[in-house]
Amino acid sequence: MKALTVLPLTAGSARLDDIDEPAAADGPVLVETLAVGVCGTDIEITSGAYGWPPPGRERLVLGHESLGRVLEAPAGASVTAGDLVVGIVRRPDPVPCGNCAVGEWDFCHNGQYTERGIKQRDGYCSERYRIEADFVVKIDPALGRCGVLLEPTSVVAKAWEQVDRIGGRAHWAPQRVVVTGAGPIGLLAALIAVQRGLEVHVLDQVTSGPKPDLVAALGASYHTGTIEDLGVGPDVVIECTGVSSLVFDAMEHIGPNGVVCLTGVSSSGRSLAVDAGLLNRTLVLANQSIVGSVNANRRHYEAAAATLAKADHGWLERLVSRTVPLEKFGDALVRQPDDVKVVIEINP
Ligand SMILES: [Zn+2]
Repeated sequence: MKALTVLPLTAGSARLDDIDEPAAADGPVLVETLAVGVCGTDIEITSGAYGWPPPGRERLVLGHESLGRVLEAPAGASVTAGDLVVGIVRRPDPVPCGNCAVGEWDFCHNGQYTERGIKQRDGYCSERYRIEADFVVKIDPALGRCGVLLEPTSVVAKAWEQVDRIGGRAHWAPQRVVVTGAGPIGLLAALIAVQRGLEVHVLDQVTSGPKPDLVAALGASYHTGTIEDLGVGPDVVIECTGVSSLVFDAMEHIGPNGVVCLTGVSSSGRSLAVDAGLLNRTLVLANQSIVGSVNANRRHYEAAAATLAKADHGWLERLVSRTVPLEKFGDALVRQPDDVKVVIEINP
């Protein structure tokens, strides 16, 4: 079968390979892949900056944002042939650490977890894959191709859970939310906020292209200014850019008892002048919290499936701004100015 593979840590090594059918050891559920989303991590892997092959192998099958249809499943499994499904990315470490032992592998403590399409396990960008029944999530069939958005939605479902848990330390009735960055993660974080009935402001730099319209269509406000420009400090900031200046802007302008959740990954080596004394003083005197959040466990995938099921499917379809057939995968790995979410189609 065809698969998109890379030689990790080698730029420009992505190619279409003919590989063996999925190994039985990967799990009893056989899935026909329909679509694989491309994100910043995939671009990092194909640019040679990131990624680990499976043990004893040189190449890694790419792809961790997936959508597929079950071809075979064992009797009694949570999925059956014909179901639309998404594969969970991370697997618990073999030790396992305390978190992995209870299914909280997104909080893996020793870093020995593996991830499909990223770290020591083949990804989903092949015509078929096999998977363990506990690591496949069924989605509403009405979602169709939009189901490929489940994995990025799981990341923000987790982020919102962190915000809820911190906010819940006292009376918590947030009203105003700022999301920084109108890429797929920011837009999906805003979708959850809108579904909760919150006042949602999305900040980004662009003034044209699909992002301002997508924010407006959601019922949120689009801004190109700063958090400070909004006036009253927000109760929640979901930071989705990893841009250092925005991260500190969020910390400095969060409202009383507010929570800043950081989801963007920055590159290191950038310095910024910060009044650390003032920042500390404000955080303490206003009970503010800063929390980082990465990855997702099964609970977050299921929350994300519910979020997508009740979203406007037309809006979700607009988030998938470009689809590329597997044979032209190279086009999907090069960013274009109006891209929101780019998806590789398989078995169309
Ligand atoms: Zn662990």
